[in-house]
Amino acid sequence: MKAARVRERGMIVIEEVPIPEIKEKEVLIAVHRVGICGTDVGVVDGHVSATYPVTLGHEYSGVVAKVGSPRLTPHLKVGDPVVSGGGWGCGECELCNQGLDLYCKNRRSLGRNVDGCMAEYIKVDYRAVSKLPATVSLDEAQNVVNIGCSVRAVRKLDLTKIKTAAVIGPGNAGLMILQLLKMGGVAKVVMAGTRDFRLEMARRFGADEAVNIRREDLAKKIAGWFPFGVDAVFESSGTTGGLQSAFDIIKSNGSVVVFSIITERMKEFDPSFLYLKEPIIYGSKGAGGAFPEAIRLLEEKKLQILPMITHRFPLVETAKAFKVFSDKVADALRIVIDVRP
Ligand SMILES: [Zn+2]
Ligand SMILES: [Zn+2]
Repeated sequence: MKAARVRERGMIVIEEVPIPEIKEKEVLIAVHRVGICGTDVGVVDGHVSATYPVTLGHEYSGVVAKVGSPRLTPHLKVGDPVVSGGGWGCGECELCNQGLDLYCKNRRSLGRNVDGCMAEYIKVDYRAVSKLPATVSLDEAQNVVNIGCSVRAVRKLDLTKIKTAAVIGPGNAGLMILQLLKMGGVAKVVMAGTRDFRLEMARRFGADEAVNIRREDLAKKIAGWFPFGVDAVFESSGTTGGLQSAFDIIKSNGSVVVFSIITERMKEFDPSFLYLKEPIIYGSKGAGGAFPEAIRLLEEKKLQILPMITHRFPLVETAKAFKVFSDKVADALRIVIDVRP
């Protein structure tokens, strides 16, 4: 089968590799749709830890090709449409036993330390597989991981207490968080970003205000609308600038949710605001138990997912697809790899 792999930093190659052999606790999935995520780009450029050589990708949809043991997966039949989480814990350590498998030191992460989904087939742990309802298309389902992660991020807060919020970074996840905040009844949500195309999409998805930080000062705009700051900020830009903005615009005693992997170091950090403003700061990593909710949202057609897909490439053009992502092409948002037609 064909797989998009990284052997050395900065280079994606399409290789012919054997179809994975599965063991009892594994499921073989024929991959259909894959979305490119910032984490994948980090794996290629070396900012996100990974074990090379590795097949890229962790956000996908496909159909069951083979099950290791029908006894373990009585609900799965060959041909069933499925998605899986982007990783799973070892199932044996103290953290896993406490249900904290997200932090497992031996966590298997697709496209990082085990082969991912940018290939014709992928094998995954049976515990990570979720069957899709018939009404959810594989095009929609390629984004389940992100929806789950966004649901988990939003769940950190009690939305009934949040009247104003800002989302920094209108990427795939930021736009999802925006939709969840509006759905949860947050009266005013401001989106901040650098690309007009994405900010326009944010407005279409319900943002009450959109600020292009290349042209406008976010802190000044926020102070104009909300003199005390916003109740909640979601940082999903993955930049230290975004995080600093979050600290600047959060209302005293408000909540900041850090959703992205920020790989740069902060050059200047004035920690006095921690005392002065008493913000509540959350990190949010992964989808945890939010998959059922993500699938339910897709089933109920409550989120705009398909309009986010701006580019599609066949598997053999994975490197080209990554370039569209990392070049920050003006009209690019969700870039999908069609592994099968
Ligand atoms: Zn991802
Ligand atoms: Zn573990």
